[in-house]
Amino acid sequence: MLVPLILGSDKTMLSTMSGDKSAWPIYLTVGNLAKEKRRSTKCNGLILIGILPKCPNSPDQHAIKRALHCALREILRSLESYERLGIPIRCADGHTRLGFPRLASWLADYPEQCALTLVIYRWCPRCECDPKEFPAIGQPGSRKRQLKRYSSLSAEEAKKIGQWKISGLENLASFHLDCNIFECMNTDRLHQLLKGVFKDHTWTWVMALLTKIYGSRASEVVDDGFANIPPFVGLRNFGHRFTKVTQWTGSEYKDMLAVWIPLLAPLLKGFPHRLKGLRHLTDFILLAGYHSHTDTTLRYLKSALVGYGKSLDGFLEFRENNSFAGIPKLHAMIHYVECIKEFGSTDNADTEVSESAHSWLIKDAYRATNKVDYIPQMLKWEKRQFIIKDRLNILQSIADDISDHKALQCQLMIDPKAPVAKPGPPKLSGLGTKCIPIQSFKFPNKASLNCLLDAFCMYLSQLRSNPQASRDLQHFGGSKQWASSRKVMVATGVTTTCQSHNNPDKTLTERARCMPKWRNNSPRYDHILIQGHPVLPGSQTSWLREQGLEPARLLHAFRYN
Ligand SMILES: [Zn+2]
Repeated sequence: MLVPLILGSDKTMLSTMSGDKSAWPIYLTVGNLAKEKRRSTKCNGLILIGILPKCPNSPDQHAIKRALHCALREILRSLESYERLGIPIRCADGHTRLGFPRLASWLADYPEQCALTLVIYRWCPRCECDPKEFPAIGQPGSRKRQLKRYSSLSAEEAKKIGQWKISGLENLASFHLDCNIFECMNTDRLHQLLKGVFKDHTWTWVMALLTKIYGSRASEVVDDGFANIPPFVGLRNFGHRFTKVTQWTGSEYKDMLAVWIPLLAPLLKGFPHRLKGLRHLTDFILLAGYHSHTDTTLRYLKSALVGYGKSLDGFLEFRENNSFAGIPKLHAMIHYVECIKEFGSTDNADTEVSESAHSWLIKDAYRATNKVDYIPQMLKWEKRQFIIKDRLNILQSIADDISDHKALQCQLMIDPKAPVAKPGPPKLSGLGTKCIPIQSFKFPNKASLNCLLDAFCMYLSQLRSNPQASRDLQHFGGSKQWASSRKVMVATGVTTTCQSHNNPDKTLTERARCMPKWRNNSPRYDHILIQGHPVLPGSQTSWLREQGLEPARLLHAFRYN
């Protein structure tokens, strides 16, 4: 089984009001998971595997790159052997498969993409297109980057195609099987399209055009336009302060994209060619955000890109050097169709996943620390959260299973060959507060199951004052014999040892408790799984029942010696 690994890294600020504390977390998820699970904050679909230290402001950029690749190699070193030998993975259907992990994609913004691929800033991380020819929309694609080919090139030759060759530095991808780090650089709708092409570039050109038409009134005209948006579900009214908005997030970009064409249409009446280009850009961004694609939607995406490319000439006058050279985000649009074909829709793995993880993983973790020695504390916090979420998910699945089988009944198997015991009431007192003998409650050395059941029934009848239980006792047949040699004790829980899921050499002690008062507070009766007879797989059969496991609640525990 192939396990495509999706890694993500994104620097983030930790302190919001004061200080300059930042973190550079590395996230990991796998392509085998559904994308909804990967984004969910309740599942462990995305985990934190490390936090890189903050880079010093060193003039020697090569030393920083060397340190980055060394650190990442150390973090991913354990994968190298698994990539060759495979790792047994217990799948959700109960089968264990041999999984072969491969580095498949890396969620990163443009500067981090350059650092990971060792591509010179402003060059394309996926192809060897010269930045002077950007955006290169509608032109035949340039040669794809390949790590193997660069090993034979000299530093000068590599520099001509935008690749750093740094002595003593080998790209971390060269240690991993079948990994083309350049192809791992997936599309990033948030940073490339919404923030880069749409807001930072195209909107700047549109504002320059409006300033040319309306002079100093341009900002006022735009503010009025955004304030006049009629109230409607899903439409945001920015009020009269649109041009003064400083904090831009993904939702602001999307809200602006939803209304900017009808707003600009009357303002750019004399420039239909440029307005058409803006419409094509809107189409492109919206199409790129589709959750799934067909050949038709990809064709629409291509034609929207060509339409936008044709209209770019109209904005050329607002560029300082009269060219679009050196805008890698504009050029990245030509790689969207191939990326969608390779990795699926853009929401599958984009930086929005890691951006949202910052809030519920990193920022929450930082708040739980003493804000001094925060990195180790954050990692510890994250590990604990992972375990707690894991347990909660298991409990949830058990609870779902119980609700699926409301008629679940516990059947006690009685040995028919066991000697029939005569009825006899055992002497029992109330439940002990700790795991201590409650009474000199004895039964023979070779206690039949019936005798044991009698003891249970008597105990339960006294505990619950249930007359029905007494009749059950007569039905099973009691005996005075077992009140002779063995002691039965009431325990407050059961303890089992099992192999650690993560480390097979380690044994874990699991304790399930059944206590009427837990820590002098409410009662506590834990959920457990009972090993029974496996049920044949069927469409309605849950995985637990196929394994012969029955979910149950531990209400009473006994011990005898
Ligand atoms: Zn390219």
